[in-house]
Amino acid sequence: MLPRLHRHPWMDDDIQAFRVLVRKFIEAEYVPHLDSWRRQGFIPRETWRGLAQLGALLPEIDERFGGAGASLAYQLVLTDELARAEMPGSAGIQSIVAHYIAEYGTEEQRARWLPRMVAGELFAGIAMTEPGCGSDLKAMTTRARREGHEYVIDGAKTLITNAFSGNLLVVAARTGDGGGGISLLVVETEGLPGFGLGRRLEKIGLHAMDTSELFFDGVRVPAGNLIGGEEGRGFGQLMGQLPFERILIAVEAAACIERAVELTVAYVGERRLFGKRLAELQNTRFKLAECATAAHIVRSFVNDCTQRLLDGTLDCEAAYMAKWWCTEQRCRVIDECLQLFGGYGFLAEYPIGRMYADARLSRIAGGTTEVMKDLIARRLLG
Ligand SMILES: Cc1cc2nc3c(=O)[nH]c(=O)nc-3n(C[C@H](O)[C@H](O)[C@H](O)COP(=O)(O)OP(=O)(O)OC[C@H]3O[C@@H](n4cnc5c(N)ncnc54)[C@H](O)[C@@H]3O)c2cc1C
Repeated sequence: MLPRLHRHPWMDDDIQAFRVLVRKFIEAEYVPHLDSWRRQGFIPRETWRGLAQLGALLPEIDERFGGAGASLAYQLVLTDELARAEMPGSAGIQSIVAHYIAEYGTEEQRARWLPRMVAGELFAGIAMTEPGCGSDLKAMTTRARREGHEYVIDGAKTLITNAFSGNLLVVAARTGDGGGGISLLVVETEGLPGFGLGRRLEKIGLHAMDTSELFFDGVRVPAGNLIGGEEGRGFGQLMGQLPFERILIAVEAAACIERAVELTVAYVGERRLFGKRLAELQNTRFKLAECATAAHIVRSFVNDCTQRLLDGTLDCEAAYMAKWWCTEQRCRVIDECLQLFGGYGFLAEYPIGRMYADARLSRIAGGTTEVMKDLIARRLLG
């Protein structure tokens, strides 16, 4: 176990107790099923009900809507523990979607969806990416046309997580032209006429997390499903939640780096070659010292961002920096660790091999490293 050298003020005894509770639950209830979820390509929706019964699925949601009204720190700790257990992604997306509704939804919308999300009855995805639009969100072509008391959605999305296993989507669609013409609509997908799931995409990692193509062919949703009730707010709403989303990804990076170092320390202590333990070779010692240092710096940065997020002072730049830097460190450290496992590191049955493949997405999704650097440079240089 790596020493958590910094105990930031946000990590009080209650949060620590929550961490222990959640870790035990995940280890007992989820980890034993992970191999079968990887083989089938998705985590069943009902799985999340267990976490909900523990009060841990969306702890940060207001008590009026079924949550515990806890600070965001609890969600970040849950994210950390799920990433550590090789289950990153899905529950974080549930939280991001809940935040769109909690932050920008009307009172009626919050009451309609949040309690069912907190209970794990609704499990959510966010559908922004299209075949012709990823980083360049303003190039989106999926349209939502107002017809009386309904919106009619036409278009296609791709690379959407939780769309297969979940039953609710926040869909970004065009209700007008340009960046100001994007709106967010809540779509309950089960049995919805005109909504189609395309291929469940085969990935190089994150095999338990479903990622799919989606089609909208004249899909009708009540006009009351427009988040906030006003057209053209979608781009600003997406941008408003991105710092939180990026810190979630940085937290996952910190957790995975620490886990990789722990696994490697254990392995090199056991593995023998040339009559000694792998841990005795100077290269091993130096590499692990470097990796542990990186783990510590990443954790310190993430803790600092967390503190600022909780204080409401986290600026976008810090979130961009945390997103790109921590995820690049995740890939680099896990690569160094895998090298110390030799051939066994390349086997999918070893966690380090799976972690290596899973890590690669973190430099792409939620804003690529290049997009993050571009945004930082724009702030620096104009
Ligand atoms: C497993 C998985 C799950 C995903 N889940 C979701 C989801 O749930 N919902 C969702 O909406 N999307 C999801 N995505 C999509 C993801 O957000 C996009 O892949 C990502 O935003 C990048 O878009 P793109 O793939 O179209 O790449 P592109 O935007 O085409 O980028 C291609 C290259 O161009 C570079 N580039 C882009 N802009 C700039 C710039 N300004 N300067 C320099 N270089 C630049 C990029 O960094 C990249 O290297 C997921 C993707 C994957 C693989």
